[in-house]
Amino acid sequence: MEALALQKKEQRNAELRERLFQLKKERNAIILAHFYQRPEIQEVADFIGDSFGLAQKAKETEADVILFCGVHFMGESAKILNPNKTVIIPDERAGCPMADMVNVEGLRKVKAQHPNAKVVAYINTSADVKAETHICCTSSNAQRVIESVDSDEIIWVPDKNLGHYVSQFTNKKMIIWEGYCNTHDQLSVQDIMLMKAEHPEALVVVHPECRPEIVALADYVGSTTGILKFCKESNQKEFIIGTEDGTRYMLEKESPTKQFYFASKYLVCPNMKVNTLKKCVEALETLKPQIYVPEHVANAARASLERMLEVAPG
Ligand code: SF4
Repeated sequence: MEALALQKKEQRNAELRERLFQLKKERNAIILAHFYQRPEIQEVADFIGDSFGLAQKAKETEADVILFCGVHFMGESAKILNPNKTVIIPDERAGCPMADMVNVEGLRKVKAQHPNAKVVAYINTSADVKAETHICCTSSNAQRVIESVDSDEIIWVPDKNLGHYVSQFTNKKMIIWEGYCNTHDQLSVQDIMLMKAEHPEALVVVHPECRPEIVALADYVGSTTGILKFCKESNQKEFIIGTEDGTRYMLEKESPTKQFYFASKYLVCPNMKVNTLKKCVEALETLKPQIYVPEHVANAARASLERMLEVAPG
């Protein structure tokens, strides 16, 4: 019965893939997907990456339409970098709770309290918040970005865990916002210890959006791209993974002989998972939902994003 259901699902997916590729050609579209997307979406993507890689790819593309499979702020960044292109997303409900933890009003208040500070925004922010910032960064380039800023005082938004992590590598004063990623922040020391007891040979590899006490237990801390590279190049065969479950697809693809144990069954971002193959097809069929960013917001946010791409191009 289960085998039959799987067979039907695979047949349905094959039909959806065929329609998707046909539409992609007709629309001259590119499909960009985040590492946290469902495997069936990563399978059809032209490029799979983390926020940084996807921002770079969005800037380079010559396609007319970008189907951005990730969460809303990522689609916004693609639109800001490509104001003349059509940017669509599979489901407009795909938001990021961490990005929603900072708003313009709150940020302006903190800026007024620290007039000499410059704002560094994790790319996980809305376009209108980016427009209030000096420079954006991602988990792969945060340290380089902070050092590039012409001020000894930094207002950091919104992720307190990443902010705490990068503050260890700089002498600058960091005023850290109290946001967090619901998915990474719930990982506990107990989760890691239980996994370590079960798999004593495994290396612990985590994303810096995890809490400081988790980061302190890790053998490697890095962005999703960094995690993939580390696991691929390591001589070790087993890894305890502290990041979102969608990364499993690429970890297993790039390192098929290695074992990956996700540190908790709750490492799943529900927002990333609202996108489906069927919604990708519908988005390309209807060119909806589309991302719109008001011009004055886009211009200010673009300056912040482009500054990042200039100081940390790779
Ligand atoms: S994994 Fe965390 S930071 Fe990424 S989209 Fe989900 S809630 Fe936002």
